[in-house]
Amino acid sequence: MLRDGARTGGPRHPLHAEFARQRIELANNVWRPGVAAPQSFDDTVISLAIQPAGPRHLRFVLIVVVVLCLAFIALLPFQHTQLPEFNAIEPSVAAVMSINDLITSVLLYAQCSIVPSRRFLVLATGYLFTALIIIPHALTFPGAFTVTGLIGAGPQTSPWLFFAAHFVFPATLLCYALLRGTDDESPLPPSWALSGIYGSIAIVVFSVGGLTLLSTAGHEYLPTIVSDRTHAIPAHLTIINVSIIALTVISLAALWTRRRTVLDYWLTLISIALILEEACFSLAVLRFSVGFYAGRVFWLFTSIVVLLLLLLEITKLYARLARSYTLLERERNNKLLNIQATAASIAHEVRQPLTAIVASGGAALHYLEKTPPDHEKIRKSLRRMISESERTSKVFDGIRALFGRVDQRREAVDVNEIIRDVLKSVEGELSDNEIAVSSELNELSDLDGNRTQLQQVMFNLVHNAIEAMQCIAHRRRALRVRTERRVDSAIKIVMEDTGPGIDPTQLDSIFNAFVTTKPAGMGLGLAICRQIIERHGGHLIASSDGSSGAKFEVVLPAGPANGAGRSN
Ligand code: ADP
Repeated sequence: MLRDGARTGGPRHPLHAEFARQRIELANNVWRPGVAAPQSFDDTVISLAIQPAGPRHLRFVLIVVVVLCLAFIALLPFQHTQLPEFNAIEPSVAAVMSINDLITSVLLYAQCSIVPSRRFLVLATGYLFTALIIIPHALTFPGAFTVTGLIGAGPQTSPWLFFAAHFVFPATLLCYALLRGTDDESPLPPSWALSGIYGSIAIVVFSVGGLTLLSTAGHEYLPTIVSDRTHAIPAHLTIINVSIIALTVISLAALWTRRRTVLDYWLTLISIALILEEACFSLAVLRFSVGFYAGRVFWLFTSIVVLLLLLLEITKLYARLARSYTLLERERNNKLLNIQATAASIAHEVRQPLTAIVASGGAALHYLEKTPPDHEKIRKSLRRMISESERTSKVFDGIRALFGRVDQRREAVDVNEIIRDVLKSVEGELSDNEIAVSSELNELSDLDGNRTQLQQVMFNLVHNAIEAMQCIAHRRRALRVRTERRVDSAIKIVMEDTGPGIDPTQLDSIFNAFVTTKPAGMGLGLAICRQIIERHGGHLIASSDGSSGAKFEVVLPAGPANGAGRSN
């Protein structure tokens, strides 16, 4: 609360200006009743790149891995069992996977444009590569469209395109994991994001085109993997599969050791599914065997699961964004209210000394026109004008400091001296309101604090007590101030009055900003007091039975205040 000198009838104190600054600062920053408190950091996350994983993500990955492993083990005895030839399998799987991987890569590129990241760029490139290379693989698959395959395919074309996809994808997973450190240390500049995206798309298109050309036009030069349409050469197949599995295991280890975000977990899951898929392929030397079909199912799984999980996480991010926007809107409305409060505070602070200057100027003119002029009274009026002008200047200084940092200067402060000063500054008000003051100021060690801010607290508590007791007619008005040093060497200040007291249910809420029971009150005084005391590492509490007065207790640590309380 900042008192209006005219309203209380007492002299104004120079602390007003600084106090006004504090009040306005708080009005601009403080949470207000009815407005949701700021959400946790989690709610500010708008990119998958930084969305942290929790225990439920780990649980999900473990459950799915167990299910996949059980399915793999259950199929092991039947790996070589030949099933009916279903030539449409390859184009069907390819169509689903190509669309899935294309959507996944678009989502990842989009994420990359929000938060530029090398890892996302590499991952999106990997998905785009798989999406595109699957197309020539399906076209060249023998029996899918023609017996030997389209676009001039030879028997080795389709398997080599298949393995190209299976080699590039774990390689991109490995790069994704390894790039974490680089991304954290030197994030990609936003201006590079777009050129990076276009560049990677161009690389993928050219490399897929090149590989297709090589494997079709140059199929005769490719090392043989299959001996005919349905049989693979086991030794060659094993070498390729083992190297792909080894690469996938390395990328899995890199992902697992560097896992941090939700996406890291999903990619770990994908790596495991890839290993199982490769294991199926290496065991199934025959096309259209159980192992062959199972490999396709695992392959599909790796593609579909990431897309679904990405969509799920992005939907959650969208919901979070919508919530943040609502909060922001409320905050903006809140700010508008605070601007009104700020304007009222400034007007209030400046009007006081201006009124006094006008009154003193009028008085000086009046004494000047007298014959003979009353020089003594003229001098007094002019002095008052000067001191009120200085006060106005201080008010403006305080307002100017409004947008600066809060004064955090610390010095050795004598709390008893502050209380004496404050009581002296309100002597007039106390006697005008017939309030008896008793103080018991025990010896204290100096405190490490901000003198001006602590003066503001005492000043405000005393003024609140005076205002509270103004409405008491039937009993003695008394203000009692006591200081003591506690056993833990903290300093305790107790201020008691015989006013109407505070409703016990309101004892906590009176410290909230804008809570007031006074018609012209702002409800900021106690909120600022508590803020100041907490900045000093102490606490401020109120107690009352709701009828026979109020008691305010301030406890301040005697030594240097802790760091947490100092920041601003
Ligand atoms: P304001 O004085 O502008 O209302 P404050 O934050 O200083 O703002 O006080 C908030 C409320 O706390 C007051 O409106 C009053 O109801 C209550 N209050 C504060 N001090 C006392 C006191 N000594 N006795 C009774 N009520 C008090």
